[in-house]
Amino acid sequence: AKAAGRRTFIRYDDAMDVSIRQRATTAGALRKVIDRGELHLVYQPRLALATSRITGVEALLRWTSLEHGEIPPSVFIPLAEESGLILEIGEWVLREACLTLQRWRQHGLADLSIAVNMSVLQLLRGNFPDVVRRVLADTGIPPSALELELTESVLMANAVQTANKLQAFREIGVSLAIDDFGTGYSSLAYLKRLPITTIKIDKEFIGDLSRDPDDAAITSTVITMAHSLGLNVVAEGVETEAQFDFLRAKGCDEVQGFWVSAPRDAHECMSFIQHWGRARTV
Ligand code: C2E
Ligand code: CA
Ligand code: CA
Ligand code: CA
Repeated sequence: AKAAGRRTFIRYDDAMDVSIRQRATTAGALRKVIDRGELHLVYQPRLALATSRITGVEALLRWTSLEHGEIPPSVFIPLAEESGLILEIGEWVLREACLTLQRWRQHGLADLSIAVNMSVLQLLRGNFPDVVRRVLADTGIPPSALELELTESVLMANAVQTANKLQAFREIGVSLAIDDFGTGYSSLAYLKRLPITTIKIDKEFIGDLSRDPDDAAITSTVITMAHSLGLNVVAEGVETEAQFDFLRAKGCDEVQGFWVSAPRDAHECMSFIQHWGRARTV
């Protein structure tokens, strides 16, 4: 957690929270945030357990406000959703992530894929499939190298509507992941109906694996169930060797978390992955 530790997150008292809300909820203010370059992406590697190789990264959005310092996504993503600006920000994130991947691919990381978080507004309101098609064409990233992540709560709240919308992305050829799996109310029937490719087990279950037998049971059941449906399983928030070993023993496909690497800036992440690859071939 070296990269994360270096950043000092500001504390929010109520007054600051109100002031950030007042500024950020005006569309003009958040748009300036993009223009002034206050947004950037960090990238967290995903490791395949069968090969011990890094297969891809997840792009995570950061806002370093000139006035307030670093503001966590849990604070500003909801604001961006309220104001509708998440559509614009989401498009910026997608393009930036694909441009980074394109650069890495030119530096020898040819097989790497990228996962991008998608807000429900992008799914339901925007013309996002067209945006995705355009960004892939502009950056030369093959659709198979892009995965879009949607949180479970979002998918289940609009199950019928979302199933249809999701199909448009599958037709482009991108992968689709259910994020934070286990925190909502998914049923097997729904999972079967949604055209998804990947399940990401929520870090809440992973964090308690060694202490809570229920979480261990849930995790191994989800892995078995996902595999029987032909889905790829990723565990997020893997922080310890014990969690890593448990997940490998249960046949989980990929892990993501501080045990492998905290999220890193683009250049740092590229070096990390290149070094990882070299270390593996020795
Ligand atoms: P998420 O998609 O579930 O992302 C994983 C979160 O877990 C990230 O928090 C990541 O930094 C953190 N994390 C990674 N490894 C570990 C670990 O080993 N232990 C623990 N405890 N945490 C770990 P982050 O970056 O603060 O992002 C929070 C959430 O904000 C994300 O959760 C995602 O829902 C949302 N988000 C981030 N970027 C975007 C974006 O570009 N668009 C949208 N719509 N949402 C985003
Ligand atoms: Ca995610
Ligand atoms: Ca998650
Ligand atoms: Ca628990």
